Amino acid sequence: MKRFVWPSLVLGALGFFVAARPASATIHYTVSLARPEQHRFHVTMTIPGALPGTEVAIPSWNALYQVRDFAYRVRDVEAVQLLPSGSAGARTSVTKLGKQTWRLGDDAESAGGPARDLQVAYSIEWNDPGPFNSQLNKDHAFVNFAEILFYIPNRRAEGVDVQFTDLVAAWQSVAELPQGTSSNSFKAASYDALVDAPVEVGTFNQFEFEKNGAHFRVVINPGPDRASLGDKLQKIVDYETHLMGGPPFKEYTFFLKLGPYADVGGGGMEHSNCTAISASSEAALVEIAAHEFFHAWNVKRIRPKSLEPVDFTKEQHTRALWFAEGVTSTYGSFALERSGIWTPAELYSEIGGQITELDSRPARRWQSVEESSLDTWFDKYEAYGAGDRSISYYNKGEILGDMLDLAIRDATDNRKSLDDVMRLLNSEFARRGFFYNDSADIRKVVEQLAGKSFEDFFRCYVSGTDEIPYEKFLSIAGLHLREATRQIAEPGFWPGRGPGGGWRVASVTTGSPAEVAGLREGDEIVTLNGEAPSRNPAFWLRSYSPGQTIALHIRREGQEQEIQYALGSREEREYSIEEIAKPAERQSRIRAGFLHGTTD
Ligand SMILES: [Zn+2]
Repeated sequence: MKRFVWPSLVLGALGFFVAARPASATIHYTVSLARPEQHRFHVTMTIPGALPGTEVAIPSWNALYQVRDFAYRVRDVEAVQLLPSGSAGARTSVTKLGKQTWRLGDDAESAGGPARDLQVAYSIEWNDPGPFNSQLNKDHAFVNFAEILFYIPNRRAEGVDVQFTDLVAAWQSVAELPQGTSSNSFKAASYDALVDAPVEVGTFNQFEFEKNGAHFRVVINPGPDRASLGDKLQKIVDYETHLMGGPPFKEYTFFLKLGPYADVGGGGMEHSNCTAISASSEAALVEIAAHEFFHAWNVKRIRPKSLEPVDFTKEQHTRALWFAEGVTSTYGSFALERSGIWTPAELYSEIGGQITELDSRPARRWQSVEESSLDTWFDKYEAYGAGDRSISYYNKGEILGDMLDLAIRDATDNRKSLDDVMRLLNSEFARRGFFYNDSADIRKVVEQLAGKSFEDFFRCYVSGTDEIPYEKFLSIAGLHLREATRQIAEPGFWPGRGPGGGWRVASVTTGSPAEVAGLREGDEIVTLNGEAPSRNPAFWLRSYSPGQTIALHIRREGQEQEIQYALGSREEREYSIEEIAKPAERQSRIRAGFLHGTTD
């Protein structure tokens, strides 16, 4: 899924001051994992050369484009001065300045006085599964550092190291970071570099391989068949590194977890030199890996200007996620098909499924894919996910990647493709240390390669909401979009996760049988036809037929009641892609190029 190349902030006067004391210029963290069943990381942060009035803060977001306010998990913040011997001296006052910021030292101290070494201690509670979170329990610890470690706003560029202590016997630690001076310690050139590399602490299996000049490690929980998985990961790595002209790193780590992640905590999170993925099947792990690994280029190194520098204090708005995420999904599917893991029919089925999904969302008529990117911060609201409120930039962006590839092949008689766009962005921006200017720079690169204007394409489908003329693009490769319609059950409400983790009615369709029967937004769903709601009720509801009666046992303001109604129906268009029987010579060439990732 998501992002970050870390800016190196320019050191100001404070940086010079700290640089003058090289022996103590590293900000040091100790993270105790004692009593893991309490789910609390005990953090001690040592700040060398802290000037009076030094502030510390914890990010409000990381790993997802959602403000999740990690500060609410923090407790018992204390600070002491460190004596020259390194032992704790006098207590220093801690003043909370805002929801995520604290000042060390009182007002009098802030007025002036020498720099001193300070130590801040606090604990922070996490026991959430999956790659976007942090977790400490009796089985393991997984840490996204931005979710547990304070930073000093004007000292993010200074070196840091982290020492884990009080590990359960037999636990080991692994991270895609340089080792520190002792076991279970890691270091990084800056806070930003540190938080781009999660750490797993526990017992796990590990295997390694070399590919195209880089070393790869796979860290996986005990169980899965590594031979089959390793073979597929190598195919993905091989295809994507060849495509992009070699790996942009020397070493890369896949942190993989196979388990009951169908609904909660599943997904993948990209970092510059590693990815963390949780999935419920090997096939899902492999599909997510094809997407996440491509992020090592697209978003981590080929990076939009609008995401730089990272602002840990509030939302960061970007129009570029249709490309950074959506086109990464296009390449996830290309990698799977072009490396032979998928058949061409599976690629066609993927594209048909994406078109079906976009078509099922009435919001496609008024929300552009750039607006969907700006609104990514609403993803945490369940009701926002309803088809009449939003589209997904993953979904439409992936489709636009496919259509762009075909349009570029059409404009150049199959001499150039979207592959060349990715390579040119890599050489013009990523390798030269530049960030691209969102859709405008993508369009420039496309036009440079295609030798014609793509103004219409970007105006109509990227910043606009015109219906995509699929048939026009697909026919370039001798492909045809087949449309079928069927009646499916319409529950009349959208189920969402409630604050306590149970299911709640996130929205009710106006005029639907559900509304007529008395269902209201906010109702907690206790049972559905006498059963506890399944892990994915939206999916489960699709197994019903139009007209079938359902009984919802709900709780509203402490009162329980039963609501029964017959499901409505709606027509769903379902799209599939097929090859036309007698393609022209040019269509055949372009189709072969599209499927094999080649040009003439
Ligand atoms: Zn992604």
